[in-house]
Amino acid sequence: PAIIVGMGTCGLANGAQGVYDTFKEELEKRGIEAELISTGCVGYCAEEVIVDIKLPGYPRLSYARVTPKDVSNLIETTLINHEPLRDKVLGVYHEKSEKRWENLPVIDNIPFFKIQQKVVLENCGIIDPENIDQYIVRGGYKGLSRVLKNMSPEDVIEDTLKAGLRGRGGGGFKTGMKWKFARQSEGDKKYLICNADEGDPGAFMDRAILEGDPHRVVEGMVIAAYAIGASEGYIYCRAEYPLAIRRLRKTLADAEKYGLLGDNILNSGFNFKLKIKEGAGAFVCGEETALINSIEGNRGMPRPRPPYPTTEGLWGKPTVINNVETFANVPVIIRRGADWYASIGTATSKGTKIFALSGKVKNVGLVEVPMGTTLRQIVFDVGGGIPDGRRFKAVQIGGPSGGALPESVIDTAIDYENLKEIGAMMGSGGLVVMDETTCMVDLAKYFMTFIMSESCGKCIPCREGTKRLYETLERLTRSYKNENDPEEALLRFQGMVYLERLAKVITTTSLCGLGQTAANPVLSTLHYFRDEYEAHLYERK
Ligand code: SF4
Repeated sequence: PAIIVGMGTCGLANGAQGVYDTFKEELEKRGIEAELISTGCVGYCAEEVIVDIKLPGYPRLSYARVTPKDVSNLIETTLINHEPLRDKVLGVYHEKSEKRWENLPVIDNIPFFKIQQKVVLENCGIIDPENIDQYIVRGGYKGLSRVLKNMSPEDVIEDTLKAGLRGRGGGGFKTGMKWKFARQSEGDKKYLICNADEGDPGAFMDRAILEGDPHRVVEGMVIAAYAIGASEGYIYCRAEYPLAIRRLRKTLADAEKYGLLGDNILNSGFNFKLKIKEGAGAFVCGEETALINSIEGNRGMPRPRPPYPTTEGLWGKPTVINNVETFANVPVIIRRGADWYASIGTATSKGTKIFALSGKVKNVGLVEVPMGTTLRQIVFDVGGGIPDGRRFKAVQIGGPSGGALPESVIDTAIDYENLKEIGAMMGSGGLVVMDETTCMVDLAKYFMTFIMSESCGKCIPCREGTKRLYETLERLTRSYKNENDPEEALLRFQGMVYLERLAKVITTTSLCGLGQTAANPVLSTLHYFRDEYEAHLYERK
């Protein structure tokens, strides 16, 4: 038998280490031989600590909200007596098996999982991320092997274009196109970088992938390196992700040992070296050129573009930067084919998208759905709706650069274009749900505080403009002191026009994406919740 404990950051934060240690002690004490395995996040963070038990002949059985106190009971009931502990059961996996657990829900039919389609997250929460063999057994490195044996770099780029993969870091640029530009660029050396500097408040998709299935990212990177002709690469991961970094170190060492990384990969003559670079956690380092500066040992500040990194990037050489989720899509495109991949999603946005669902929603967690799923389906079907009988008010999509969307637009099918049309953007995939008790001006102020402190200060519109926006929001939301205060009078006189004009200046004149999208929280809340601003302005007591 095997006992598999969910030990991603969400599991650990809920006490998974204690559960794991108690299982270890109890198994030793009772002399029971069972494999004790740790895994990543299966996505259902609200139900952590999740423990799966796999008995020979039975399908995998999943338990939710396990505490150290439950361990002895679970061992007695399930391991020894082959009975489920019903009040702790989450569900059973749909697997071919000789025996069955009677009258238990199937995991795929639970509302949280029902409309999800696990493509990138297929191994997260299932395999031991530190065991390369478990990744290989589930088809891992098959894509790489196919690429090195049967495909030219141009074939790989062609397949990626045909699959329709677009950058999951936020911009949605065609991945194959980026690779093509870098392939065509002249350079004695080329670099490949994985952007794992996930910094949006409410986003934890990349962390979960790195903690739960790191080999998938490495495989995607080696395939991409072959496609563009890179010989060296970096995974730029924020230092606040210690577990991801620890698992990545082991992943790189194991991949090298298996001949899947380093010199002469799979005896193909192709060489690719990969290093980890820890970032200090600056939001702006998620911007490609700031990230490059940071790797070069300089202050993490964006550079003007062009030249684009694909022609002049790290150390002045052609460089491709993709984010974690983008690379994690690559192996499956090669393994299952571009046509299969392109059959998922909408006309312009193919494949699935992972969202980190948090805030005022019952089922907080990591969600992977086909492009084209609506926000309502994610919040209500997967997320279970709003707790405590409250009403849904809005959902912030795409972190600070995205937008707050009200109920009137949540039936929009999510893809890159549709989100832009309704005043938001895909961003990296953070989804923060607000209920009727949230003040949208406060929300905008919160994001402005974040953006203001993360602005690198290089250009004036962003450095000064975000401060002025914040100050105005601060004045709007503070309690009313003196009717004759000239600041108050000016604020009432200018109304929303000042906010809107300032937002426009910041958007159109800032150097990098951070500044160009800095005003989005204000613009989108002003667009959809203008009455709340006006209430703050004219009805304050
Ligand atoms: Fe720095 Fe903001 Fe200018 Fe970007 S827009 S370079 S973050 S000051």
